[in-house]
Amino acid sequence: MKYISTRNKNLKLSFREAVLKGIPDDQGLFFPEKIPHVSKELFNNTHKPNLQETAIEIARHFTGDEIPQAALSDMIKKALNFDIPLSEIEPGVFVLELFHGPTLAFKDVGARFLAQCMNYFSKGSAPFTILVATSGDTGSAVANGFLGIEGINVVVLYPSGKVSPLQEKQFTTLGQNITALEINGSFDDCQSMVKEAFADKQLTTKRNLSSANSINIARLIPQSFYYFHAWNQLPETNLPVVISVPSGNYGNLTAGLLAKEMGLPVSKFIAASNANRPVPDYLETGVFIPRPSIETIANAMDVGNPSNFERILTLYQNSREKICEVIKARSFTDKQIKTIIRQTWEKTGYLPDPHGAIGYGALKQYLKKEKATGIFLETAHPAKFNMVMEELTGEKMELPEKLKGFDAGTKRSIRMDNNYQELKYFLMEE
Ligand SMILES: *Cc1c(COP(=O)(O)O)cnc(C)c1O
Repeated sequence: MKYISTRNKNLKLSFREAVLKGIPDDQGLFFPEKIPHVSKELFNNTHKPNLQETAIEIARHFTGDEIPQAALSDMIKKALNFDIPLSEIEPGVFVLELFHGPTLAFKDVGARFLAQCMNYFSKGSAPFTILVATSGDTGSAVANGFLGIEGINVVVLYPSGKVSPLQEKQFTTLGQNITALEINGSFDDCQSMVKEAFADKQLTTKRNLSSANSINIARLIPQSFYYFHAWNQLPETNLPVVISVPSGNYGNLTAGLLAKEMGLPVSKFIAASNANRPVPDYLETGVFIPRPSIETIANAMDVGNPSNFERILTLYQNSREKICEVIKARSFTDKQIKTIIRQTWEKTGYLPDPHGAIGYGALKQYLKKEKATGIFLETAHPAKFNMVMEELTGEKMELPEKLKGFDAGTKRSIRMDNNYQELKYFLMEE
């Protein structure tokens, strides 16, 4: 399997090169040269493989002969050491819970698989430093994914006072190979400092810098595994199956589309979004206009220029017609999201987080018009948004054990000004 750039089909890199590079030189995105067809046995068999078996069977098509079977199997068992259960919350409506990993959000799936790949490919080379800027969730998923992995240090830059205290605890209490830099500045300042570091030749000749960027191909591929796993947990149905995906940067949805191209007979995907709606607008008008992001209560989806849209265009040869055939879109304001959460809780007893609620709301609107079996993805545990939840349900929310564990830890961070020279000094001396 080779990987091309979305901007240049003639560029062909190995999986290893694509993972370690992260982004092609032409600033496009890596994409598999051909989408493999997986065996029907994987989703059409009385023997239902479990999540790990499914993942191993799919992953080997993408890693080819670059990772021997035994090593790949070991990597997947380490990365996907938690459940992704499907359950029915009302007749014909199923929730796929992606939040059972260590940081209680679906980004654990991608970050943990990427960590295993980087670990495998960097063996025998000098230690790596992963530099990551975060506004909250990415930092915790990456830090926890790489925690304890030999030969890789993670440095997380975050804006002081601008991430929630619970989010902050998820990457400042870990110790070991994880260092948190608390920057007196904004998220954009953190990101600029990281960019400057990657562009600094003096630094990059001394230190092996790498990024765990959300657009790394090794974060995208594992997200396709759980669409097959959802299918295998679904009771027999003669109706078409639709899947609603709460979307921001569109990695999750792109992975679903990959699963469909690999053979999974999903009928439609619903791109469920908050007030940031460049993709719903594209489906309506045919024009894609990136915009500054709008802040919402589903903040992990506050993306005004979703990078994976470029991959969707590549997958469907830039044909809006093909895209519209597969993807339907719905978007919701904060007020609507709150109403959905309250009503779902009252009617079904299921409490979705603000992101999952968008997925559920979009699915319900679709099912009003079409007969189908519906699945929506629940991308984060509602307790991560306990303030919003308690306001809506009027009940105090118990934190899950994993969050309590982080909450009890001691925060350790290094304060730093919004000044690249300070970061450089720190990385050169480290
Ligand atoms: C990142 C994130 C999303 C959006 O996923 P994309 O792949 O960026 O579309 C949705 N929900 C939660 C909780 C997230 O952390």
